[in-house]
Order: sequence, then structure tokens, then C-alpha cells
Amino acid sequence: MIPVIALVGRPNVGKSTLFNRLTRSRDALVADFPGLTRDRQYGQGRVGGKPYILIDTGGISGDETGIDAAMARQSLLAIDEADIVLFLVDARAGLTAADESIATYLRQNGKQAHLVVNKLDGLDPDMALAEFYSLAMNAPYQIAAAHNRGVTGMISDLLEAVDSEE
Ligand code: GDP
Ligand code: MG
Repeated sequence: MIPVIALVGRPNVGKSTLFNRLTRSRDALVADFPGLTRDRQYGQGRVGGKPYILIDTGGISGDETGIDAAMARQSLLAIDEADIVLFLVDARAGLTAADESIATYLRQNGKQAHLVVNKLDGLDPDMALAEFYSLAMNAPYQIAAAHNRGVTGMISDLLEAVDSEE
């Protein structure tokens, strides 16, 4: 079984940047404004000989209408399809109400989800991480997707955990 990893989080936290890092694919649209990737994108990658499937999503805020509601639906479908859910937040923007809604959704859904704090480049990690403690999730992965920091280590760790469950 090839594990399926879904990237979820509100728009602009760096999901597509991470997707591109992990799949060496240009399929996901990366933009400087929120919400450009409007559908799920699938990619494949491999770390240390172990393959995985990755799903990028357009983003979810827990409070959407119109096109945003469609994007959120895609995210919920991706969560259902996934073996592993990575919930990304943005260390530069800090904790938002949308992050809190997503955390609540994941908890109610009972899906195994890992908190990933992105954009830690140039920040003091202790300061940046502190405000996400209130999400009451497991110890977060700390990455800077745009700089490829913490990315490979995170995926290796996740794939190892999947292996040891089988
Ligand atoms: P998405 O909406 O969650 O898919 O976010 P994107 O991947 O499109 O990224 C949104 C913005 O955040 C882009 O301008 C990225 O260049 C930027 N970004 C992504 N990862 C990082 C990072 O590790 N550090 C910094 N400083 N910016 C990042
Ligand atoms: Mg995107």
C-alpha cells in the first residue's frame, strides 16, 4: 500500500510550495495571493526508496461561500482519501480563526493529523511556535517549504511511522 498524504490548511500557508517540493511537479499553482489552486492536485514522490502519493488542496477556512465552499469541499474529500493529513499553518501570519476551525474539524473527524508550522525561515522557532500550542495538537513539524528546510526529514518520519503500523 502506498500511503496517501493530504495537505490541508487555509489558503496561502504554503501547501502548493510544499507539494512542489515533495513531488518535483509543477502541477500545483503557487501564487502570491490566496486560493489559486482550486482543485485537488495529485502527485507522487519518493523518499529513501519509499513512495507516497500527495494531495494538494485549494484551502479551507471553515467559513466559506461560493467558490471558497467548493474549495473547502475538495479539502474535505482529500482528508477522507488520505492515510496521513498534514495540517499546515503559517508562522509569519500566526494563528488565525481559520486555523482554529480546521483544527476543530480534524478533531471531530477523528483523522490522524499532524500540525506543520511553515515559513519558519528567519524566525525564532520558540516564539513562532508558542501561539500554535492552543490548537492542542501533537508536537508540530517545523519547516520552511520555500527553502526546503525540514521537508525531507518530516516525510521520512511520517513514512516510517506508517511502516511501523503495518
Ligand atoms: P497555498 O495557498 O497554501 O498553496 O500557499 P502557496 O504555496 O501558494 O504559498 C503562498 C505564499 O507563501 C507564496 O508567496 C510562497 O512563496 C510563500 N511561502 C511558501 N513557503 C514559504 C516558506 O517556507 N517561507 C516563506 N517565507 N514563504 C513561503
Ligand atoms: Mg495552493
